[in-house]
Amino acid sequence: MLAQLIEAGVDVLRLNFSHSDRERHARTIESIRKACEEAGREVAILGDLPGPKLRIGELRDDVAELETGMHVKLTPQPVEGDRETIPVAWPGVTSLREDELVYLADGAIRLRVREPEDGCVDCEVEVGGTLSSHKGMNIPGADDLPTGGGDLAWVEFAVEHGIDLLAVSFVSTADDLTPVMDRLQALNSDIPLIAKIEKQQAAENAEEIARAATGGLMVARGDLGIELPLAQVPVVQKRLIRAAGKRSKPAITATQMLASMVNARRPTRAEVTDVANAIYDGTDAVMLSEETAVGQHPAEAVRVMDQIARATEPDLPYGEWLFTRTDQATQDIADSVAQSAVGAVYRLNLAAMVVPTSSGRTARLVAAHRPNVPVLAISPRIETVRRLNLLFGVTAVLSDYETEVRSLLDDCATLAARHGIARSGDLIAITAGLPDQELGTNLFEVHRVP
Ligand code: PEP
Repeated sequence: MLAQLIEAGVDVLRLNFSHSDRERHARTIESIRKACEEAGREVAILGDLPGPKLRIGELRDDVAELETGMHVKLTPQPVEGDRETIPVAWPGVTSLREDELVYLADGAIRLRVREPEDGCVDCEVEVGGTLSSHKGMNIPGADDLPTGGGDLAWVEFAVEHGIDLLAVSFVSTADDLTPVMDRLQALNSDIPLIAKIEKQQAAENAEEIARAATGGLMVARGDLGIELPLAQVPVVQKRLIRAAGKRSKPAITATQMLASMVNARRPTRAEVTDVANAIYDGTDAVMLSEETAVGQHPAEAVRVMDQIARATEPDLPYGEWLFTRTDQATQDIADSVAQSAVGAVYRLNLAAMVVPTSSGRTARLVAAHRPNVPVLAISPRIETVRRLNLLFGVTAVLSDYETEVRSLLDDCATLAARHGIARSGDLIAITAGLPDQELGTNLFEVHRVP
């Protein structure tokens, strides 16, 4: 199936660390790398840290049918769950008050607390549904939730297993990223951090979180739609994508994008429009979750998403975005050079852009301005090549390049032709940072492909 997903157009595969143990994730990582090798394509792996999110434990046969009107007990004991008793690894579950609402499975199931019992709590199922092991649990407004203490051990796992991108769940402020950043630094790793915005406080602090999150923002609509009134989700989605764009950081729009495809072969018109609208909002990535994790038509869901993206992308307001997406007041040299380079692409009608980049920063800055031509990023680091898969409009290839400027520029033009983004005689833009200057992106040249 991994081979089929990669063939269908997947660029990044997310492993939600909440859903399994280390051994199983390690085996999945191995399978992904093998599938990539066989496909001859690099796909990034995004490790999703559990964070302070409540989840239910294991259910017998992994599933329980909760019917509206029945009663179910929540227990902090690590028992095997069923439709009568659901384990939740959080002692606070016994302090839930009568009439409090508890949502399960991204809000699909609603429980109302009836009465605390000895060591557990009795709830009435107000809205029933199918529950599977490890599904999330939300208690809107609750503030004494467990901290994401296990996250740092997963950070070590991620570094050890060469994970390309890390997402931090349930952040409230930019400071919530610090422990993970510090641990990465201690491990000498520069894995980009994506902040998942899934609660009111994070949505309010989106600008400062976007500044701090090295890998961008995820609009985690599943939890957002429970923590906020549902009707606020589209408003917040647009605001978050704008906040990420302003800081030249990528945005991922996630959850229920093609939800009907969990069971159906074709999506609804509304879902197709939702995916397209996220792209019109300026998202870099559109994400599938249960459609590919447990759905019946995973490869078809990816193919549909790929088709929607390909149909939408030619219609985007390129050119206009050059002046509106990012922070125009920044004094940053690299950003200014990247924006000017993209401006030259439009003004001079250049055929393509080539970006030699070690860390990937230049490619990120260029992509943020949404050039309307192919961008080829060249990096000697395989991690960078994989990470850049998240960005809008960038194709990354592994290649050493010369550090002497003349040879570097010639190499870029040769690679543009070799990868089919420009032909002999075409004018292309090349932009890069010269290491000896330590100024970030500081070079721009218009180059004729020999
Ligand atoms: C979400 O809530 O939309 C989300 C992506 O989070 P999770 O990791 O719980 O799927």
